[in-house]
Amino acid sequence: MVLDVPTLFIVSIFVTTILGLFLLFAWVQDRSIRALAWWGVAYLIGGLSVALFTVQDSLSNPLSVAIGNALLFVACGVIWSGARLFHGRDVMPASMFAGALVWLFALLIPGFIESASGRIVLSSIAISGYAFMTAFELWVGRRERLVSRWPAMSVLSLHGVVFLLPIPIVLILPPDHRYSAYSEGWFGIFALETLLFAIATAFVILTMAKERTERIHKTAATIDPLTEIFNRRALLDSGRRVLNRMVWDKQPVSVLMFDLDFFKKINDRFGHAMGDRALQVFARTAAANLRATDIIGRLGGEEFAAVLPATTAMSARVAAERVRSAFQAAAAEIDGVAIQGTVSIGAACALDPSADIDALLAQADKALYAAKAAGRNCVVIAGFDEESAVPPHEKTEDTPVSDASLEHANLVPADLPGAIEAARAAIKSAA
Ligand code: GH3
Ligand code: MG
Ligand code: MG
Repeated sequence: MVLDVPTLFIVSIFVTTILGLFLLFAWVQDRSIRALAWWGVAYLIGGLSVALFTVQDSLSNPLSVAIGNALLFVACGVIWSGARLFHGRDVMPASMFAGALVWLFALLIPGFIESASGRIVLSSIAISGYAFMTAFELWVGRRERLVSRWPAMSVLSLHGVVFLLPIPIVLILPPDHRYSAYSEGWFGIFALETLLFAIATAFVILTMAKERTERIHKTAATIDPLTEIFNRRALLDSGRRVLNRMVWDKQPVSVLMFDLDFFKKINDRFGHAMGDRALQVFARTAAANLRATDIIGRLGGEEFAAVLPATTAMSARVAAERVRSAFQAAAAEIDGVAIQGTVSIGAACALDPSADIDALLAQADKALYAAKAAGRNCVVIAGFDEESAVPPHEKTEDTPVSDASLEHANLVPADLPGAIEAARAAIKSAA
């Protein structure tokens, strides 16, 4: 079967132009990804270059060859620049136009325009070079996990390799066979490959852009914008997953509930902006003092919670104490203002992780009430030390916990209604 090159060219003009318009349309819909506009324009330039080849009686017209190829290399450079922009890197105009400029300069060399071999070698180097450079940009940006990045890199690399093939063909074949061998059949194959490449690339770059947009939306839906940690929904979802995993591992899970002390007063005395800063300092301090596997989130207002997988009540106490004292140190003075912020913490541990996250949080919340009643800036563990909770300044050492009592620190409903009532009364009277 002989591929009809003029027909392929006409199909390519329409396909690249339509794809260019599609990419521009995608950019109009979401202007945050500027690369889409660059890629769209590159496709339109590519379409124009093929049109020049076709309209002016194809390869025999020197002007068509000169301008058509220059435009084709500009299109490749713009695709590469789009890949740089997509990853937040600058456009490099000199390199973007280098292919076209080298080509135009080469045309000034006597005899170059008549030399099919010279033209083929230079064109192949330019097209392969930009394809590999674009694939390289995608590879450099691989830390951003986009599934479609890998097919995009493969398609570009394959295109780069395919366009290196004419070089040995041209150089190895005897001079009088070179151009005819290249033009008969081969040229059609390269035109077809380019058309398929254009279609595949447009598809994968559109998918990459869509993937990024989805990821941004997903992040916005799970992250609290002020403190940049999980929001309530994301914390509860992750907490549930952790509990399920722990069921299989037969490991305990602990939950910590944090509530900043006298936060209303901080807002009243130092302003809402300083209150916001205190919330940020707490989120950062807590995250820094928990393990990477622990999950922390903001439940709302000045209330936070953390889910600690594979953590006994004893270890939860140690972690909570570490966060409490670190925050006391970090919030003694924020941005040069002595706000003396502190946090109260309630903790609950499930040795039988078939319990649900809401029940664990409710237990930790009760313990938190007890911590507030005990004078704030302290840690109370549900199930055994609510009643004996004492403010840290009255403590001589940590409340002793026996192994036996630890075993009872389970999801058995904590027996602390008295302590909670007292806490509620104390909080009311403090307010
Ligand atoms: P307690 O020690 O008993 O917890 O007292 P509190 O003052 O911390 O508790 P209360 O519930 O009375 O006040 C919480 C305050 O937190 C009231 C609300 O205006 C403030 N707040 C909630 N969300 C934000 C926020 O995003 N930024 C700031 N700056 N303040 C907030
Ligand atoms: Mg509160
Ligand atoms: Mg509070």
